Amino acid sequence: MLTEKLKTLSKALNESDSAEDILKVLNDIFRKEVKVFVFDSQLGKFRDFSKYWTVEDNLYIDTDFIFNGKPAMKRGKIYYPLMKKNNPAGFLEISDTSKETLQLLDIAIYNISLKIQNIILTQKMQKSVEFHDAMKNIAKIIETQYELNYIIPLIGEIIDTFISNHLIYIFLKEDGKFKLAWPSSCLDKDIINNLDNLSVQTGIAISNDKKTGYFPLINENSIIGAIVAKSAHEQLDSREIEYLEQLASQTSTTINRANVYAEILKHATLDALTGFYNRRQMEERIKQETASAKRKKTPLCAIMIDIDYFKSVNDTYGHAAGDYILKTASKIIRSQLREYDIASRYGGEEFAIILPFTREEEAVMVADRLRKAVESKIINIEHVNTKNDTKTIQITISLGIYSFKETDKPEELLMKADKALYDAKETGRNKVIIYKENKGKNT
Ligand code: GH3
Ligand code: MG
Ligand code: MG
Repeated sequence: MLTEKLKTLSKALNESDSAEDILKVLNDIFRKEVKVFVFDSQLGKFRDFSKYWTVEDNLYIDTDFIFNGKPAMKRGKIYYPLMKKNNPAGFLEISDTSKETLQLLDIAIYNISLKIQNIILTQKMQKSVEFHDAMKNIAKIIETQYELNYIIPLIGEIIDTFISNHLIYIFLKEDGKFKLAWPSSCLDKDIINNLDNLSVQTGIAISNDKKTGYFPLINENSIIGAIVAKSAHEQLDSREIEYLEQLASQTSTTINRANVYAEILKHATLDALTGFYNRRQMEERIKQETASAKRKKTPLCAIMIDIDYFKSVNDTYGHAAGDYILKTASKIIRSQLREYDIASRYGGEEFAIILPFTREEEAVMVADRLRKAVESKIINIEHVNTKNDTKTIQITISLGIYSFKETDKPEELLMKADKALYDAKETGRNKVIIYKENKGKNT
């Protein structure tokens, strides 16, 4: 009977590879409630082996017995020390004091202990591998992404997979208030209220029941957001808290970098490829120039330019050739303008130009000069042509003109020039069209 049970036990132990498995095996064999507590040296506490993340703060028994390595009998239960080499590593509690059980455990306890140590080691390694994966993935995001709208969900998902027992929320501060950035909703009013108590000085905050943790995201000396981990059942243990703290600091770095980059973009005024104003800057200049034209009652014109069949240039000679041609076109355009004319790269291969103090007839002359200059330029693409042996090419542009009226809104300046450009494309390209209400006029 005993050997039979021993065989079954050792076979079942061999086949189990999680804490739940082992406890199930023990409960099945002994047919009485079996509990296992293991000593967590990192925490300096015992924890219930069946609940990986739960710490027992106040064990209801005196655990001194485990230090002499012998089983103890207390309150109708047997406590067996689990040894790791010669050191106590935990104990097993069983609500049964029968002789048979004692005999069985005397023989089997060593194997049970070994198996439990094995599982603990695997759990630890697994967690640590997952943590390093999570950190690595966030580091990768730091290097490659700048868009917060894109970054936050990625980080949220990484942390969520890693801390699987808790719900994860990411909040970012906007205008002094915490706003949920990930996931899309948080019904928990407590969380939102508690966020306002966070401070850089006090750092992370853990709720009294240890089920919710608040991890501030910090930039220099201010809180820019928070990661919150919450569970209805499980407590956060010190290891998880340490992990989350590091993840939060990594997340802060990522967010700060993204914000710095966004700020740089905001202040950048020039397009990198052509050296012209970028679209954002052009929009600023349009506000200024239209206001000034209205105030001083001076004429103001806009020319919208788009390279003809540019997609096929890219397709035929490659993108490097395309970029080079864009640069060349921008140089030609600049060379034909006066110093106070304002040129911008408005889109991929579109240029918007505003001509202050310029009447429509003058703008038409400028536009036609531009058109001819581009058309006649023989562009050497030998050094950038990645697709064939073609050495030189010529391109053409289409242009639309609009002359600003005192009653116009600023945005009408380019909108109407663009409408004329559209007509130039529609009616054959390589031409200049002046915007006219209802219909563009050919020149
Ligand atoms: P059309 O304007 O005459 O109607 O024809 P298109 O082929 O020029 O028309 P579309 O505006 O549809 O195509 C614009 C193309 O310009 C798409 C893209 O391949 C190219 N392009 C946009 N930006 C860049 C850039 O920065 N570099 C390069 N090489 N190509 C660009
Ligand atoms: Mg085009
Ligand atoms: Mg275009």
